[in-house]
Amino acid sequence: MPNTILVGAQWGDEGKGKVIDVLTNQVDIIARFQGGSNAGHTVIAEGKKYVLHLIPSGILHEGKVCIIGNGVVMNPLDLIEEISMLRGYAIVPAGRLFVSCRSHMVMNWHRAIDKADEALRSAEKKIGTTGRGIGPTYCAKVSRTGLRVGDMLSATFFDRIREQVAEANARLKVMNAEPLDADEQVRIYKEAADFLRPYIADTAVMLAEADKAGKSILLEGAQGTMLDIDFGTYPFVTSSNPTAGGACTGTGLSPRRIDRVVGVIKAYTTRVGAGPLPTELEDAIGEGLRQRGGEFGATTGRPRRCGWFDAVVGRYSCMINGVDFWAMTKLDVLDAEPVLKICVAYECDGKRIETFPSDLDILSRCKPIYEEMPGWLSETSKVTHYEDLPVKARAYVERLVHLIGGRLGVLSVGPARETTLRLGL
Ligand code: GDP
Repeated sequence: MPNTILVGAQWGDEGKGKVIDVLTNQVDIIARFQGGSNAGHTVIAEGKKYVLHLIPSGILHEGKVCIIGNGVVMNPLDLIEEISMLRGYAIVPAGRLFVSCRSHMVMNWHRAIDKADEALRSAEKKIGTTGRGIGPTYCAKVSRTGLRVGDMLSATFFDRIREQVAEANARLKVMNAEPLDADEQVRIYKEAADFLRPYIADTAVMLAEADKAGKSILLEGAQGTMLDIDFGTYPFVTSSNPTAGGACTGTGLSPRRIDRVVGVIKAYTTRVGAGPLPTELEDAIGEGLRQRGGEFGATTGRPRRCGWFDAVVGRYSCMINGVDFWAMTKLDVLDAEPVLKICVAYECDGKRIETFPSDLDILSRCKPIYEEMPGWLSETSKVTHYEDLPVKARAYVERLVHLIGGRLGVLSVGPARETTLRLGL
């Protein structure tokens, strides 16, 4: 398979985990390029359900090499927990899981500050952080005070921990939050460093060498395009670039070595946490999508906000990421809807808008312009070939793809691996 970037096209939770799992057979190396353990991929394989926050789901496939790239912020304690969980299932990550020495580490004080910060924000200012320290860690990275995975191998690592705990405690005090004990933190991270040492590598070099040797690479993003720090609904976004550009900066693989981009997109819309969502359904239809789609966060269990498919978002996402192929997911969740609405454009102050506005004030005044299509009212999850889908279901999917551009490569009609219809991907 050619070198591929895979991104979420909406607000995350598009079902990337399952699509990656299906594409993994065709690649040699899978690398995560941004985010942290605030994202959760859920994969169901051979009847077992695995929730992975940091490690690429490729680890569930024997012989595949998995990389946590430099763009990821990595909580070493979460990583240890995940490695241990996998060992519990008789999966041995050693020798095929590598963490970039340049990846920044989420430390306990970043988490403490994240939680204290969000608690101090007024209800309308809350950004919906998962409180896992991701934001403060990216802040530290950009402020040039971060700790990188490679620092665990340095003689000064524990002095830097003491220094950082003292600084964090001063901040936590002002925020009325509990301070941390420096000795305890040194002990915790000494143990972590010993455990993780064999997994640390210069993964940019590994990728370049693998590419040169003709191996194929899948670069996978977490979250989604609309949560991108630059192109998402700022400030209700994540602290990194989940879009295709982030795949190269987040792994070190040259943009010239990328062959194609796959966008994962749900057949409707969801979003977790605060921020604008033009097609949101705050009624029984929205509740139905939430229940049938199991739309509750993999990490926090928070109910996701649900709405109709937004083609303005899809088009924007296609443009920003340069999507070649779509992997459309969760079509089956719409099986019981008699009528489906598709947002084809927005209306704002009497004008029709076809492109996604950057200004949230404008966006908040945007009303979706809907087109309606009849539902197919039959079960799609047993269908194994695209041509066997109800005509109305195909018409819906094809209309969505026509509106957003790109080509359909995969259609997913259920959570299990087998419920994946392949169309050229
Ligand atoms: P990710 O972060 O993009 O991987 O998304 P999540 O793992 O948070 O959410 C995807 C959820 O949807 C998981 O529970 C999957 O098992 C499930 N899922 C994926 N594809 C489909 C599908 O086509 N139909 C249904 N019903 N569920 C799906």
